[in-house]
Amino acid sequence: MGSSVRRLLLLGGTAEARRLAGRLSDLPAAEVVYSLAGRVRAPALPADARVRVRSGGFGGRGGLTDYLRSAGIAAVIDATHPFAAAITASAFASCAATGVPLLVVRRPGWVAAEGDRWRRVASPTAAARALAGLGERVFLATGGSGAAAFAGLERHWFLLRSVEPPPPPLPARIEILLDRGPFTVAGETALLRRHRVDVVVTKDSGGDLTAAKLTAARELGLPVVVVDRPPLPAGAAVVADPAAALAWLARLPQPFASDHRSTTATSTTKRTSLPAAQ
Ligand code: NAP
Repeated sequence: MGSSVRRLLLLGGTAEARRLAGRLSDLPAAEVVYSLAGRVRAPALPADARVRVRSGGFGGRGGLTDYLRSAGIAAVIDATHPFAAAITASAFASCAATGVPLLVVRRPGWVAAEGDRWRRVASPTAAARALAGLGERVFLATGGSGAAAFAGLERHWFLLRSVEPPPPPLPARIEILLDRGPFTVAGETALLRRHRVDVVVTKDSGGDLTAAKLTAARELGLPVVVVDRPPLPAGAAVVADPAAALAWLARLPQPFASDHRSTTATSTTKRTSLPAAQ
């Protein structure tokens, strides 16, 4: 590996992206730009001070393509949420157009355990249809943007939990709970009981931070409608964890070095050798 520092774009907005940002910053030849959509007012940020943070959409595929070129991005790691399909499609198209290597980091989906009463569906619209006959008091754990598909249901009552106030349209009979994970099984059980919930709807987000509702539903014997993940772009390189992402970087034709040198000295060198990222 030569001495020049190269810039990595890390598409984030997830806990594993924040963790990965620190590990990528340990690579002596990498400057990490952590990108957020910018829709959450007080977003969680990477703890590592060496990581540069940018916020806001790129302006579609054309905008991202321009950004990759103007910011001199040498590789892109997409560690966005499994349901953030638009930015993943954008990254795939822009990387293909520019020849910048792209890796998608996707946490594994949830797997039903004994006692679970899950019904898997392909979309939020299918989840709304599946509610007929399953229950009338619904815990909608889909996040705010997932509520629109349920707006036409008039007989059901919804408890919607989201980080930010949800955009319209919303169901007529709804209570909104602004909160963010991680959640505990005891807390989720109490929530389901307090609101006399009889069916849960969730996306197959995977991971530990929001899995407690599944255990709570199992223990209470409640049915859960699980919305399957949108497909990844055909041909995308995908790994499940940060260690595999580091291995991928090391295998690139121009690999990023993988030794972990003193962070202070490295950080100073990195910051002085590149123009500012957006
Ligand atoms: P999305 O539908 O794929 O993205 C919508 C638009 O937001 C994209 O076209 C892009 O705008 C912009 N965008 C999304 N992620 C971005 C990023 N990391 N950096 C810069 N721009 C980004 O995504 P979403 O589902 O709304 O999620 C938005 C963010 O929240 C993502 O960072 C995701 O990781 C995080 N998140 C999502 C969920 C979820 O359930 N969907 C849950 C937890 C966290 P342009 O087209 O203008 O570039």
